[in-house]
Amino acid sequence: MLIGAHALVFSGSFEQAGLTKAIEKTKQAGFDLIEIPLMDPYHFDRMLAARLLKDNDLAVSASLGLSAGTDLTSDDPSVVAAGERLLEECIDIVHAMGGSNLCGVIYSAMKKYMAPATLAGRASSAQALSRLASRAEDLGIRLSLEVVNRYETNVMNTGRQALEFLDQVGHTNVSVHLDTYHMNIEESDQYTPVLDVGDRLGYVHIGESHRGYLGSGTVDFGSFFRGLARNGYDGPVVFESFSSAVVNEDLSRMLGIWRNLWDDSDDLAAHANQFIRGQLRAVESIGLH
Ligand code: MN
Repeated sequence: MLIGAHALVFSGSFEQAGLTKAIEKTKQAGFDLIEIPLMDPYHFDRMLAARLLKDNDLAVSASLGLSAGTDLTSDDPSVVAAGERLLEECIDIVHAMGGSNLCGVIYSAMKKYMAPATLAGRASSAQALSRLASRAEDLGIRLSLEVVNRYETNVMNTGRQALEFLDQVGHTNVSVHLDTYHMNIEESDQYTPVLDVGDRLGYVHIGESHRGYLGSGTVDFGSFFRGLARNGYDGPVVFESFSSAVVNEDLSRMLGIWRNLWDDSDDLAAHANQFIRGQLRAVESIGLH
């Protein structure tokens, strides 16, 4: 099991200086993996990233949220084509970096929709993802669809909705990505959805209710980690946190990061690494009871 941190804990930009800082500091905080947001894949230096990851002996994954111009649920075929093209580029980047996971809101735009998703929009997205999954599978890369709250997509807000959508995609290389921050808004609890999703869970984000220090909000982490243990989950577990102390213009605005919840990335990350490993160690012991 790889324990990771989202790169935005350390840097809001991913040119050479930002990427170097994020990778070195993720390693120093004790993590096994860094999740790099690919909000602008056409300007991302994959070979530099691959070299820095190797130098620091760190595993990698990538994530993104699509935009209105690359929305796979759009009724404009040129927008869907742009989204598919963008995700193909992201899959190639993950491959070049030596990663095996691409996740996030990769099935719709990450934005507040003003109407429910349409049947045609869902079908369009599912078909595009099925094609992308074949390409990803050839490269040994898994696609995981992040279930997010109602203000960030209209396609899936719960784990069970994600399973319905996965059936529509119809590809074993596509799985569910759960995030405790979003679950805390939309789900009945933190345990049942993990069991409902079962072996179709492919990726996990660990975020607090306000996206700050783990343990300082209302997320019931004990139940969530018990669910992972009950399922024998062995995929990536990645810490995600945002503060106005580290800003990426696109992502911070989209996610509504207006407040300063922390200003010391190193302390936040070291704490999160210990918190996650502690929770996993505790639930592992349940097997002995
Ligand atoms: Mn997340």
